[in-house]
Amino acid sequence: TTISGSSDGTVYEPSKVAIIGAGPVGALAALYFAKGGWQVTVYELRGDLRNPDNRSLNFTKSINLAISERGINGLRTVDPELTESILEEAIPMHGRMIHDKRGKQSSQKYDVHNRFIRSIDRGKLNERLLDELENLTNVELKFNHNLKQLSLEKGEAIFERKLSNGAYENVRVEADLFVGADGAHSQTRRQMMKYVRLNYSQEYIDSLWCEFQMPPHPVTGEFQLDPNHLHIWPRQTFMFIALPNQDKSFTCTLFMPESMFKDIVGPEALLEFFNKEFPDVVGLIGEDRLIADYLKNQKLPLISVKCNPYHYKNRCVILGDAAHAMVPFYGQGMNCGFEDVRVLWEHIANTLTISEALENYTAERHNDCIVINDLAMNNYVEMRASVTSTSYLMKKWFQEF
Ligand code: FAD
Repeated sequence: TTISGSSDGTVYEPSKVAIIGAGPVGALAALYFAKGGWQVTVYELRGDLRNPDNRSLNFTKSINLAISERGINGLRTVDPELTESILEEAIPMHGRMIHDKRGKQSSQKYDVHNRFIRSIDRGKLNERLLDELENLTNVELKFNHNLKQLSLEKGEAIFERKLSNGAYENVRVEADLFVGADGAHSQTRRQMMKYVRLNYSQEYIDSLWCEFQMPPHPVTGEFQLDPNHLHIWPRQTFMFIALPNQDKSFTCTLFMPESMFKDIVGPEALLEFFNKEFPDVVGLIGEDRLIADYLKNQKLPLISVKCNPYHYKNRCVILGDAAHAMVPFYGQGMNCGFEDVRVLWEHIANTLTISEALENYTAERHNDCIVINDLAMNNYVEMRASVTSTSYLMKKWFQEF
């Protein structure tokens, strides 16, 4: 299985990599390493999301998201066939549809050459990657494993494993390389800080987000809005968006300052707010469902994370949200994580030693990740600034979306 190698023909001995986190970025990273001939074990805190009993465990993540060329390229480079089959289930969004307060809709195309982004089901995307991994003989998937400690000089990790009877046991694991794709609150990153002078900053923004489901039309069963747009209801300091799903529903997200959420205390206040700000949405979701979703669904925070470096010697590297969680106003978090994996692998495949590859990776990737993180945050700041021209704001919002 010694497949991976450098461009000058040097072939690595098969090495053991432990991937921490089986979210979209960790699963994609596992695929790259596995296809490169490494012995791959993926450790995931939660249960297998393909088991219906575990679906609700990943409650802090949006149901669908926008995948763009950046992310698709990350997928396609490792498996073009899988990518095409995944994209068959994604819905093209050729532009934004802006909804004003009277319910008037205006379409803004993304691109004169008709390029577009796509709405994709996050869970299904993750499942497809896990299915693919399961078919590979050099991959093992370990669920219910919570990374607790990394001893990077020894190449050792301790995971707390949740047993089926609810008890816990510690599991000691050895690997040549640890890849942390364990999200914004990454334990890998925290552990790496003990070994390297890692600069780190995080910032929560004032806005929270809450999800709603817009069902298909009750009579025709069709989409209630144009499915080939990303719908936006921009309202200066807050906004509502909707992305289409395969089942002809839309997943909608309200982004709003915490104080405004706090002011909406009961069903009446909620309906009053929606009737004033997003009158067309009330009929499309239905009053009962709107109220139920608002009361039931969490109001979740948004965090921005920056750090440097992303690696330690030849032992550890962090990818995706673990390295650069960003606010979602550019729709690039996962896309950027997929790009991380592609760029990391390029370095591993073209550099003689892993330590050099990881060093080059941090050097190349850090500036790009900071820029995209800042662009996402600036878009949020623009949105909150006292710019009064709505058309100006509309142009600024979701420039990538
Ligand atoms: P995660 O998805 O967070 O996965 C991390 C995994 O690691 C999880 O499965 C977790 O259980 C596991 N884990 C955590 N701790 C441990 C541990 N100690 N041990 C073992 N495993 C652990 N991005 C886009 O590209 N386009 C969009 O349109 C978009 N929209 C968004 C909308 C919203 C509202 C939000 C909040 C985000 C959006 N994003 C979008 C960002 C995107 O969701 C993230 O960038 C993406 O999920 C990051 O993937 P990841 O695999 O790095 O991390």
